[in-house]
Amino acid sequence: MIEQNVKQILSELPEGVYLVAAAKGRDPQEVLRAVQAGVRIVGENYVQEAEKAYAVVGGKAEWHFIGHLQQNKVKRAVAIFDVIETVDSLATAAEIDHHCRQIGKMMPVFIEVNSGREKQKSGVLPEDVEPLLAEILRLPNIKVTGVMTMGPRCRHPEELRPYFRETRRVFDRLKGLCWPNVEMAYLSMGMTDSYLIAVAEGANMVRIGSKVFGERTQIDTQG
Ligand SMILES: *Cc1c(COP(=O)(O)O)cnc(C)c1O
Repeated sequence: MIEQNVKQILSELPEGVYLVAAAKGRDPQEVLRAVQAGVRIVGENYVQEAEKAYAVVGGKAEWHFIGHLQQNKVKRAVAIFDVIETVDSLATAAEIDHHCRQIGKMMPVFIEVNSGREKQKSGVLPEDVEPLLAEILRLPNIKVTGVMTMGPRCRHPEELRPYFRETRRVFDRLKGLCWPNVEMAYLSMGMTDSYLIAVAEGANMVRIGSKVFGERTQIDTQG
């Protein structure tokens, strides 16, 4: 039951930890129910799906993009989303900046870290985050406000702990930089099976799908 799930998760999350309800594969009515039960941030992996949910839920929630953003979807994405959590290249950042400038929007973005150092995975390697940030901060319509990671697919969530820990180290280092346009505030990591470990390792934003909406039939954690 979505309502009960939301209430339980919200009551158990420590103060200062934000819940992002990861809504991929859910219909707009389910997203609306989650929001009416207290979810304040909805995470979407696909622009088209987000547009459908947005048409129903609209400004009752904050919208975070958490999937892989294709260049040709950026224009539509910046129209809806309040935060883009998965920036991992200068090209994507420049495209976001370009479209935001046209509509007079300042977009908060997170840098996605490939903490598992997996070849096929999106995100930047931990040591490449700072150089990317140095380039992004020249883009006037983007503000970097956080770091996000998925971590590798693991058999046991406990195996994710070192990847969360490394991402936290990246986050802390960036926080210490005091660069313009960088206001490091959010560390987004942890999903249904791993969010308690992520919170223990310093996450202040968790992205939870199954535990909010029920199990997905389709296996898809990458977006
Ligand atoms: C699906 C998804 C989640 C949530 O996964 P659950 O295991 O259903 O909680 C979190 N983050 C991203 C990027 C996702 O694609």
